[in-house]
Amino acid sequence: MQRIVVVGGGAAGSALVGELLRPGRPTEADIVWLVGRRAPGRGIAYSTSADHHLLNVRAAGMGLFVDDIGAFLKYTAARGLPVKGADFVPRSWFGDFVESSLARLVSEAGRPGRLSVQSREAVAVRGDAGSGYTVTAEDGESWRADAVVLAVGALPPAPLAGVTAEALRSGAYVTDPWQWPTLAQAPERVVVVGTGLTAVDVLLSASALWPHAQLTALSRHGQLPRTHASHPGEPYPHQQELIDAFEAEPRIGAWLRTLRTTLADEELDWRAVVDGLRGATPGLWRRLDGAERARFVRHLRWLWEPMRHRMPPQTATAIARLRTQGRLKIVAARVLAVSGEGPLDVRIRPRGGEIQRALTADLVIQATGLTTLAERTSHPLIGQMIAEDVVRPDRLGLGLCADAQGRLRGADGSAAPTLRAIGTLLRGALWECSGLPEIRTMARVIADDLARELAAPGRRRLGAIATGAPAGSGDACVH
Ligand SMILES: Cc1cc2nc3c(=O)[nH]c(=O)nc-3n(C[C@H](O)[C@H](O)[C@H](O)COP(=O)(O)OP(=O)(O)OC[C@H]3O[C@@H](n4cnc5c(N)ncnc54)[C@H](O)[C@@H]3O)c2cc1C
Repeated sequence: MQRIVVVGGGAAGSALVGELLRPGRPTEADIVWLVGRRAPGRGIAYSTSADHHLLNVRAAGMGLFVDDIGAFLKYTAARGLPVKGADFVPRSWFGDFVESSLARLVSEAGRPGRLSVQSREAVAVRGDAGSGYTVTAEDGESWRADAVVLAVGALPPAPLAGVTAEALRSGAYVTDPWQWPTLAQAPERVVVVGTGLTAVDVLLSASALWPHAQLTALSRHGQLPRTHASHPGEPYPHQQELIDAFEAEPRIGAWLRTLRTTLADEELDWRAVVDGLRGATPGLWRRLDGAERARFVRHLRWLWEPMRHRMPPQTATAIARLRTQGRLKIVAARVLAVSGEGPLDVRIRPRGGEIQRALTADLVIQATGLTTLAERTSHPLIGQMIAEDVVRPDRLGLGLCADAQGRLRGADGSAAPTLRAIGTLLRGALWECSGLPEIRTMARVIADDLARELAAPGRRRLGAIATGAPAGSGDACVH
């Protein structure tokens, strides 16, 4: 019997396993699903139980499968929850939905034993598309696999450069924004590094947990995410012309000029333009050559991300309240160093100035967003696969080298048809890859492709297929 091993038990792993189990697929391969230490389904985003941690996508868009996007809304209606399609609801509700969808999928999994869910972490994947793979778990157990899909989410965050070993040892510097230490005493001065959606979550939790703490959030540009409108707007009527203009001149400078001209129309809802670019983003990204992608990351990312990844209106109101109460300061500054044994000394350089300033913090929480830097990652599996040339890291620090269908590239640059990734690891290949809409689309693509690959063993014996087109033609890892 053929076997597919899926590594990672978050929403991406769930969407993929669901697609693989779908009745009528031409493969009946066994599925081994290594979900790690968390319960399968929720992953990082939907494990929270805090009601103030809201989805940043409207409820109507949060289905797990491409052919049932409204499933979450049906689920909430069936449970009598007062949810409208345009609402932003607690993420834990979506976690409940994924768990209940999984329970149904597993019960309908076809012949007994077809799906094996393993609460272990994979620490090694070896082999190649021609001879197959071996996946090894932390306890030494291993599985032969005809295909492997990595759905491991973002990589573990590493401390910022400039944080001393002493500060890390003190326990007053938190590197992982989703794992806070238990503190003997409530902190009075909390510094959050980052001002994106993760930082906003952290600020709301910190303000609820420590009502007397003074909060400071720092980032180079000091930009909070923009806010979703309370109701979805009309699509921008000239969206396709805009995309055509971008495609005609794949250069960041030209895109910025075109976008500025478009958004200068004050009648226009800028959100509609940004949202209308979402589906086209992977295609546009792949038209950029390496230098242009690097230019985007260096000069434009800070401007694009707060417009693209917006916060729900309720969240924006809560943050604004903290600011007017004087409990939260947002500072545009670069963190130069964090030292001390607690309280910590945070040395910063405010934007546009040369003079350094020092802040004192009882607690510093690093909340700089999804980590994609795979080179020297502490993630054991990804570290092993890079060290042994099974995969290679994206040179811009955006996950792993892959093609548009998530086929991972090995040391020779060829894309392996039966070694895939889904989710944040594909940032360098697609840019837009971490949200549910992209994840469920990729889950369908990978499940369809693998079914075809496994149904054609002769083709698999050909080994990795070489699709190493040059950067800018859309299929190369940027090197
Ligand atoms: C705070 C937050 C809020 C978000 N809100 C939204 C939203 O509202 N709407 C939206 O569309 N998207 C949202 N996202 C984007 C989010 O990335 C996706 O929706 C989705 O949850 C990603 O799932 P994932 O499975 O790729 O990653 P994860 O949720 O990170 O899950 C990966 C899982 O794999 C496990 N794992 C890692 N390594 C191994 C290993 N070696 N072996 C076994 N298991 C392993 C991890 O423990 C983890 O459980 C949010 C993201 C975050 C972080």
